[in-house]
Amino acid sequence: MGKPKTKNEAELISEAMSVLGSRTSEKKRKSSAANSARSRFKPRPLLELACSCGGGGVLAVEAHKTTCPRGRALRRRVAAGQPLE
Ligand SMILES: [Zn+2]
Repeated sequence: MGKPKTKNEAELISEAMSVLGSRTSEKKRKSSAANSARSRFKPRPLLELACSCGGGGVLAVEAHKTTCPRGRALRRRVAAGQPLE
């Protein structure tokens, strides 16, 4: 009767939307975290990288020049303590 119904409804709707919205964003956050975990960077095998210096398949920093893509990746991984695969 005397109540300003529309304002309450609008407030309720806005509250509900904000609840729904934060729920959705939480869901989105979880799914995007799952996606990024799934697509986590896997290092390419060093032998897949081109060798331009003639060092060939030797996985040793000394065997490749610094201008060689395989040699550069080798140095990067040695410096970062990553496995040389
Ligand atoms: Zn090389």
